[in-house]
Amino acid sequence: MKQMISPVHIAYSDILPEDQLEIFRGTVRKSKQITIVTHYDADGDAIGSALALYHYLKKTGDFNIQVLTPNDYPEFLQWLPAHEEVQVFDKNPAEIEKFLLQSDLVFYVDFNTLARLKKMQSIFENISATKIMIDHHPNPSIDCLLRFSDTRPSSTSELIYYLIEALGDKKQMNKEIAECLFTGIMTDTGCFSFNSSRPETWNAVAELLRLGIDKDSIFSEVYENYSDGRMRLMGYCLNEKMKVIKEYNTAYISLTLEELMQFHFEPGDTEGFVNLPFSVNGIKVTAFFIERDDHIKISLRSKGNIAINLIAQKYFDGGGHKNAAGGESKLNMTDTISKFTSLLPLYENELRQTNN
Ligand code: 5GP
Ligand code: MN
Repeated sequence: MKQMISPVHIAYSDILPEDQLEIFRGTVRKSKQITIVTHYDADGDAIGSALALYHYLKKTGDFNIQVLTPNDYPEFLQWLPAHEEVQVFDKNPAEIEKFLLQSDLVFYVDFNTLARLKKMQSIFENISATKIMIDHHPNPSIDCLLRFSDTRPSSTSELIYYLIEALGDKKQMNKEIAECLFTGIMTDTGCFSFNSSRPETWNAVAELLRLGIDKDSIFSEVYENYSDGRMRLMGYCLNEKMKVIKEYNTAYISLTLEELMQFHFEPGDTEGFVNLPFSVNGIKVTAFFIERDDHIKISLRSKGNIAINLIAQKYFDGGGHKNAAGGESKLNMTDTISKFTSLLPLYENELRQTNN
């Protein structure tokens, strides 16, 4: 095979053009108070990218910054450098809203529509601050001064790596920033098992390793830090709750509030459960249904060409990436599952194909 050596260049510089970077620099320079907000049910990429941006801004200027998430986030992320700076809206709404209203600049990281802020949506619809989006979801729909948005990077964290590099600030990257970015890339790729086939991702990771991060210890903090309840809940899901519909190469798992209580559920405990049925030979679509106080939250995953985000959007008031999406249902659990299974015949051709 002919060996190809690619020239040194900043990945995705097409979405980070110099004129926009100049606007970025100017906007940040004249800001004093900044809010960095991420989506409801924040995951490793949400918190990792928000905190990486926090560290970067702190290194480059004298800003008053709040990192904000609408609801509580998993404990396995509560070791990231400066995690104690993350404000959870639920816990202190008045103070947080006051800070937000006084912010001259707001960063939206790791989401593409204000609906993902849930109860905070209406507050953000009415703020006058300048907005900058950094995200990797398709079809961004938020009005912003700048939108650094592209679906090619594995994660928002990876995109922030390129942004810092394109701003000419690679020398400002330190171990703290690298730990946050690596955590985001690692979690959004399921530990480099999906969404990680582009060489650019691995180049970025190589650079993060050069900054002295301890990859093994980050892995351990995130994936070897669960409660025994979580492991038993996973066992219960696999043993008793996983339904395989061979005919349509589909499998799903559901959990009610009662079952969650039985296993002392904590936020983040069911992270990754939606991927478990992919270990079954031939499975192309998986779904995970989890009961919340007033709705069922749905996670959907697919392999290959099946655009699961379109199904999430059309039937479950949601969206996401082509192979990883989510949504919700106001029906009860049984009816939500029936709605999902009744859709499968509509996608018979895609689901039954052996190669796609
Ligand atoms: P998860 O299943 O891990 O909660 O979400 C997977 C992906 O689906 C997220 O990265 C996000 O893009 C998308 N997603 C999840 N829930 C929703 C939702 O309620 N609305 C929209 N628009 N996207 C969602
Ligand atoms: Mn992400």
